[in-house]
Amino acid sequence: PAELRAASAGLRYVRVNLLCNTVAEAVAKFVADGYELVGPGEAHRLVRGTRVFMQDEHLEDLLVFAPGTEMHAHGMLADGSVVVQDKASCMAAHVARPTSGKPAIDACAAPGNKTSHLASLMGGRGTVYAFDRDARRLRTLVEMTRRARCTMVEAQCMSFLDVDPLDPRYAQVDCLLLDPSCSGSGMAGQLDLLVDRYVALRQGTQAKEDVKTRVASLAQFQTDALVHAMRFPGVQRISYSTCSVHVEENEAVVAAVLGMQEEFALAPRTDVLPTWPRRGLSAAGLTEAQADCLVRAMPEDGTNGFFVAGFVRVSPPDVGKT
Ligand code: SAM
Repeated sequence: PAELRAASAGLRYVRVNLLCNTVAEAVAKFVADGYELVGPGEAHRLVRGTRVFMQDEHLEDLLVFAPGTEMHAHGMLADGSVVVQDKASCMAAHVARPTSGKPAIDACAAPGNKTSHLASLMGGRGTVYAFDRDARRLRTLVEMTRRARCTMVEAQCMSFLDVDPLDPRYAQVDCLLLDPSCSGSGMAGQLDLLVDRYVALRQGTQAKEDVKTRVASLAQFQTDALVHAMRFPGVQRISYSTCSVHVEENEAVVAAVLGMQEEFALAPRTDVLPTWPRRGLSAAGLTEAQADCLVRAMPEDGTNGFFVAGFVRVSPPDVGKT
């Protein structure tokens, strides 16, 4: 709603960990702790300094608190009942639509916010194979998924590009989440940094080349990783996300990958947060209908800058190509 957008700066999002409690139970615990639950039409009551919260209108496992709410010392965070996670970041696992009881892959997983979200949506049934090539960040993932009581996460320190899609361990994996390294240009603070760097253009071309070269090399990795994700023969759904606002890392990666293979198509809007209003851009050769299947989020939506695309398998794997 418009009033929520207007008041959105600094909204605090808390994701309910379904491995520990239902949404109704978490809501009841906050109410017992003195927070007031307001209804969907009362977003304007989420005013800084008030102990007021509501259920998110797009993501059923997300609670929204007033700007500035201090959550980090709350007991429900310490015992894993809830996870502090930006709304946009929570979109990726919903788009992945993991199947309870079937294994899933989180390809670039650390520090593990989306791994633990997948586990939550899977109700603790099945395995989440979590890969990251950074050992220090993977240790954080192990600690954060332990705190969130995700006993079904198998973390491996390796490049996702070196994971063998034909390894029998991954034959039953039907859902893959890919949230690769990106420029982070959608994160709070990074937007200002980016503006500063572009302003620096007036003093020479160095800054521009810095940004362009870095984004191009990230886009190459993102494309390679997405193509690799499509090589897992059992995978039926892929969620691709970045916290970048650059077309090069978002719509252009989607367009490139759609042009490189025929086994996966864009998931229809009906499966990709259909009620979320801000959709992708018809850029990089994507049609308006294709862009409508994509999700973008921006700070004016009360979230970090973010991008999510869903892919679905439309033809059986050509194992000879993997
Ligand atoms: N999905 C994570 C979350 O929600 O907590 C955030 C992932 S972060 C945007 C990207 C991660 O990709 C980093 O931890 C980085 O170390 C990892 N990464 C980069 N290249 C990789 C590769 N080739 N294979 C696996 N992980 C990689």
